[in-house]
Formats: sequence, C-alpha cells, structure tokens
Amino acid sequence: MVTRYYEHDIFKEHVTPPGHPERVDRLRALETALTAEQFDTLDRQQAPIADESAILLAHPEEFLLRVKAQIPEEGIARIDADTVVCPQSLNAAMHGVGASMAAVDDVFSGAADNVFVASRPPGHHAEKNTAMGFCLFNNVAIAARHAQKKHDVERVAIIDWDVHHGNGTQDIFWDDPTVLYCSTHQMPLYPGTGAKGETGSKNTICNAPLNAGDGGDKFRAAFKDRVMPAVQNFEPDLIIISAGFDAHYRDPLAQLNLDDEDFDWATGRMMELADRFCSNRLISVLEGGYDLEGLAVSGAAHIHRMMRG
Ligand SMILES: [Zn+2]
Repeated sequence: MVTRYYEHDIFKEHVTPPGHPERVDRLRALETALTAEQFDTLDRQQAPIADESAILLAHPEEFLLRVKAQIPEEGIARIDADTVVCPQSLNAAMHGVGASMAAVDDVFSGAADNVFVASRPPGHHAEKNTAMGFCLFNNVAIAARHAQKKHDVERVAIIDWDVHHGNGTQDIFWDDPTVLYCSTHQMPLYPGTGAKGETGSKNTICNAPLNAGDGGDKFRAAFKDRVMPAVQNFEPDLIIISAGFDAHYRDPLAQLNLDDEDFDWATGRMMELADRFCSNRLISVLEGGYDLEGLAVSGAAHIHRMMRG
C-alpha cells in the first residue's frame, strides 16, 4: 500500500487560547509518534491550498463571506463559545480543504492507495450555514462532493468514528441519496444530534450512538451490526473516514473507552470494504482527539494499518 500523508506548518498557526482542547500540540504529538521507524515509507506531502470556490461545494457563499469577515487582523475572535479564529485560521482551514480534495485526486489517479490528512481546524461539526464545535469548513463533505464532481463518482460513504456526532456532515447530506453518512459517537454528548431515528430523508444517514462507559466491544458491535452492513448495501465508490480519536479512554471530553487496538481494528474493516467496493480508495481526515497520548497512539495505529493493508 502507498499511504500518503498531508501535513503543513500552517496547521500549527491556527492558534487557540490557553486551555482550549483543540490546540497546536495535538499535531506535534501525532508527528512525534510518526517518527517511529515503521513510518519511514509514509509518503509525506505538503498540503495544498484550496480555491475559495471549493468551499461552495458544501456551503453557501454567504456562509464563506461570514466566516471570512470574522477572521481578526490580530489576536483571537470567537465564532461561538468553543470556536475561535486567529489571523491564520482561514489560511489553515483552506489548506485542510485543499489537502482533503488532493487526497481524493490521489486515490483516483493512483498516486496513492490511501491518504491521511493531518489538518486543523477539524470539520465535521461545520453545517451548511454554521461554523461550530471548533470547525470552520466541512473537509470531508467538500471532499465527497469534489469526488463526485471531478471524478464522476456516484456514491461516497463517510464513516465518522469521532466520539462526537458529525452534525455538520449529517446536515449537508440529509437529503442526498448519493452520500452515505455513518457515525458512531457517545450520546448524549455535544452537539446533541445523532439518534438512531435520524436517518435522513433518503435513508442514507446511519447513526449508531453509544453510551458513556462503553468500550471496544460495544464499538465493534456497532460497526458489525450497523455501520458495515450499511456500507455493504450502499456499495460506495470511495470511503472517507472522519478520523477523530476522542473515543480513546484517556480523552478528557468524553467517556468512551476505546484503545489503539480498536482504531486499528476499525481501520482494517474499512480497508476490507474499500478493497471490495472501491479498488482500495480510502481517505481519512483528522477530526478530534484531545488527549495528546491517546491521539498519538490511536492516530499512529490507524495510519500504520492504512500502510500495511
Ligand atoms: Zn470529537
């Protein structure tokens, strides 16, 4: 397997206030884990920047203009209680979108079998019209639409195992029969959406909520019983993972009890489905994960599984 990895120093210039969980150190922790020898063959590339028109694949223009207007010339501005922007935040977010789109291009051109995007800010809480939950633009949603527009893909499956429900991705694809959105997440928890009954108007939303305290056994059961059958029935042409690692037992923002072996296992199941339906095409974009050690070991296990096949 050729596994490509997008990184860029701009992702460390999206600065949040002291004590904010979504912080620059998260990327440093992941990078340190990836200095281990087994990552020597990772195909590391600089994340390209997206054109502003790319944002319009998933968000209306007024939303883009509103986000741009909120970027401060200096210091930090608040979009909401949790979501902050600094002068470089727009630039960072545009590189995250650009890398997510480049990842799609890479798996269709054959430049890589699969791709991981190590970007900040994350994206899955960004709704069509609302930046929230540390997120500005919905990277995975834009990537899915880009695949459909540029590579003539019919069906894209987005699998989101971040511990928080991806309300933004669900919002964007609620009425879209061409994109399957599957999520495992703790419930109740921020942002409050993600009940089993939220299926989308075309039945292409598959929520598998878990309870606080649940561990790898319940997570794997949710995958086997709900997520994997949904993907098999959908027969996607591309799989995109919203890769949050805040379901790790060490994470301070939630109470699920996964460990790195669970993320390795889930990655393996997604790769099997990508092999069966998508000629291995799989891309994965970083979302949450707020304990530095939990993020580092889980992210490394995920990426190493992508490399091993
Ligand atoms: Zn999260």
